Amino acid sequence: MPTFGGIEAGGTKFVCAIGSGPDDLRGEIRFPTATPAEAIPKAIAFFQEHGSLDAIGVASFGPIDPNPASNSYGYVTTTPKPHWTNTDLVGPLRDALNVPIGFDTDVNGAALAENRWGAAQGVDTFIYITVGTGIGGGAMVNGELVHGLMHPEMGHMLLPRDKERDPYEGWCPYHGDCLEGLANGPALTERWQVDPTTLPVDHPAWALEAHYLALGVVNMVTILSPQRVIMGGGVMDQEQLFPLVRTEVAALLNNYIQKDELSQGLDSYIVPPKLGAQAGVLGAIALAERALRAGK
Ligand code: ZN
Repeated sequence: MPTFGGIEAGGTKFVCAIGSGPDDLRGEIRFPTATPAEAIPKAIAFFQEHGSLDAIGVASFGPIDPNPASNSYGYVTTTPKPHWTNTDLVGPLRDALNVPIGFDTDVNGAALAENRWGAAQGVDTFIYITVGTGIGGGAMVNGELVHGLMHPEMGHMLLPRDKERDPYEGWCPYHGDCLEGLANGPALTERWQVDPTTLPVDHPAWALEAHYLALGVVNMVTILSPQRVIMGGGVMDQEQLFPLVRTEVAALLNNYIQKDELSQGLDSYIVPPKLGAQAGVLGAIALAERALRAGK
């Protein structure tokens, strides 16, 4: 049985692990993302300590260049994150470890892992949305992770905003009131001037949050026709959001799409990830598994 290394390269921390799936995940370590000069050698040293691996997967914060034919393949590209703009992430790993490497966004990785072992088993067209410090969306369509110009950036879709209901201008440095700018964790904190985890479950903050998330989900549903929508990330730990989002998505779709999947209050259509907090690093392991199969 092959052994894989996985790196979940997050905006604040790297998580590295060895294994082959949810029931076989070993030696996990975490360290701050800090700078490339600190984080990348730590990851290499971790894998070298664990002997020979068959492949490595890297599920990274973005934007990234996932196109193997491109000169900047394997790079973190235009991120505003200090020290990481135009950073070659895959190159140093390949030079040091000389194994096939799978590379994709953290959310595409998590989508692949949910398809392989989690809440998207048996469906081949679905989206995975994470709502936390940022908002990101991964997509699988007809069994393939979606790439194109680069990769989807669903968190930055533009939404209608009722300025009387919500005068908050939004948090995104690029767009102000895009989905991420209106509904990520920092936007909740800034709008309500409080740690959102301290807000009661019936606080209007959650209805407004669900409203924006539902607008985003409806746009994704109309564009990609997903068979399921998985919603994870720290903000979605507020479980009261799920029924609010489901109800509002149903109201916004207004029975236009008639499918069994959208019946019963969308309970089995809009769901939490099954792999929970491990979706990220398992995404990296799943990317490694796929890279080995592809012989890359
Ligand atoms: Zn934006």
